[in-house]
Amino acid sequence: MKIKQVILRHLKMDLLHPFTTSLGTETDRDFILAEIQNEDGLSGWAESVACADPFYKEETVKTNWHIMEDFLIPLLLQQDIKHPDDVSDLFAHIRGNYMAKAALEGAVWDLYAREQDISLATALGGIKTQIEVGLSIGIQDTADDVLRKIELGLHEGYKRIKIKIKPGWDIDITRAVRKEFPSIPLMVDANSAYTLDDLDHLSQLDEFNLMMIEQPLAHDDLIDHADLQSRMHTPICLDESIHSAEDVRKAIKLGSTKIINIKIGRVGGLTEAKKIHDLCQAHNMPVWCGGMLESGIGRAHNIAITTLANFTLPGDTAASSKYWLKDIVQPEITVDNGIINVPDKAGIGYEPDWEQINLLTLEKKVYVR
Ligand code: MG
Repeated sequence: MKIKQVILRHLKMDLLHPFTTSLGTETDRDFILAEIQNEDGLSGWAESVACADPFYKEETVKTNWHIMEDFLIPLLLQQDIKHPDDVSDLFAHIRGNYMAKAALEGAVWDLYAREQDISLATALGGIKTQIEVGLSIGIQDTADDVLRKIELGLHEGYKRIKIKIKPGWDIDITRAVRKEFPSIPLMVDANSAYTLDDLDHLSQLDEFNLMMIEQPLAHDDLIDHADLQSRMHTPICLDESIHSAEDVRKAIKLGSTKIINIKIGRVGGLTEAKKIHDLCQAHNMPVWCGGMLESGIGRAHNIAITTLANFTLPGDTAASSKYWLKDIVQPEITVDNGIINVPDKAGIGYEPDWEQINLLTLEKKVYVR
């Protein structure tokens, strides 16, 4: 692959509804859209899932722009890439900065698949033509708001429901959901809001037959999660703690987790995501694809990775219309009865909507070879 130029765009999109977790409330989404063009003018696309604030992880839109501009893009423009798997090796000596790396690597993957005239799902070794998705419901003002959102999500066919929890909004809300919906596939996500001091409190969740509790303890912890898992029946799923297949190897060895949430951006790209998938598969550990309030470009990447065989649990990739008045891809991502039909067109299978992208772009910069 001969990369001719890289184009970064800083976009801002308003969310249809505020999204609240234990980390805070998001009303809009700042992100970087990465476009990588070859000498024939063909482009690949991906987005960075870093937020404006360093609350989920330490990366931000600004740190991503800096790392891409000053370190990653010069490396890409100096090399001829034979296969997208080479990109993570090229970036390996730069520590951390997973979301920045993943955005550029993802655009290379899309460009590669378009050059080969195959879908990104096929390029990754995916086998599914349809994927099941669930709904993630943020913290609401009242329990009734949660129940009505669940009711709507179930009516729309979403295959599992996830509710966000935090201290003061956990046991009672889960009990209220279980009372009205005794048998739906249900899970909770704490986004690192607890410590081991909350062990007895968290153990009360065991009575609700949850699919899992996601990341209850610190964002960088493996040890305490192992302790908690040994004393809770509910499977723990790690999100924030996992950046690599190496992290997963350690988590498995320690007994910190029974399920992994794979986010492409959090683990540095699609190549590492595949490695994590393969390692989990070898240990009979299910995985699923998490969400970062992505635009359609990021959602398309999530759909492609979810076609791998061991993504056996429904992911967070809901329809564009759940988050955006108008998405930046054509067609928009649609969900039919909890199912997304994986596009078989070349690359990510969705085309950028130029009018919408230009409307939302705050800043643009072109880096030429
Ligand atoms: Mg999570």
